[in-house]
Amino acid sequence: MDVKRLIQERPHLESPISFYLKVREYLQRCVKEEESIQKEGNPFSFVVGVFCSVFDIPEGTFSFLSEEVSEKGIDPITSPSSLLRIPIYHENLKEDDKNRLLFLLSKPFFMLLKKDKEGLSFMENGRCPVCGEVPSVGRITAENRKKLICTFCETEGDFYRIGCPYCMNRESPSIDILLDEEEIRVELCGRCKSYIKSMREEHLKKYDDPHLIDIISLPLDIVTQKRGYKRRSPNIIGIAEIK
Ligand SMILES: [Zn+2]
Ligand SMILES: [Zn+2]
Repeated sequence: MDVKRLIQERPHLESPISFYLKVREYLQRCVKEEESIQKEGNPFSFVVGVFCSVFDIPEGTFSFLSEEVSEKGIDPITSPSSLLRIPIYHENLKEDDKNRLLFLLSKPFFMLLKKDKEGLSFMENGRCPVCGEVPSVGRITAENRKKLICTFCETEGDFYRIGCPYCMNRESPSIDILLDEEEIRVELCGRCKSYIKSMREEHLKKYDDPHLIDIISLPLDIVTQKRGYKRRSPNIIGIAEIK
């Protein structure tokens, strides 16, 4: 996908698409450095270094976070989820920014857990079978089956064709569908007021990355959230609630 053209076609999404590109660059660099991350005495500081270099942020900006991680004895490689829940008290950081930052800094560690194998399933409790976080994106396969995709570790696994992964509601009358002009859809659960997005093969062929499709369909999040539905996990640029 030619992202420059994508921005030309959707100038209102220039900022999230540009941010998406930066996030992908940062993640690719972390994947390339995977061996160093695994071997590092302080892997969190190492990832913070990559993040600061890609986003052009002065190195020392997040040293308070690295200190917190080592003080709390958190091992980000075995337990990336615990990074998401570090308490941060920083006067210039709002709750949303904090969550976004922790999502972005923990994501390379989640991706180290990723498993590309058949037969993984979100059906037991709606959570990612690899990292345990909740999904917000799915795809419908050519065989008309549903796969959910974890935004944290990017593992993919089977799910019910119609169903809500948050409350496990599977009664189709209480699940509504909204489509955008490209037929990217949101599935709204009337029982727990959550939603997930889903896309089809043709969208994936066109855009390559389900998480990019999640970004270009941000207007669907806006409409859905205005109706009072919640997104339970962030998109790849770390945004769950749109304000
Ligand atoms: Zn996961
Ligand atoms: Zn539900």
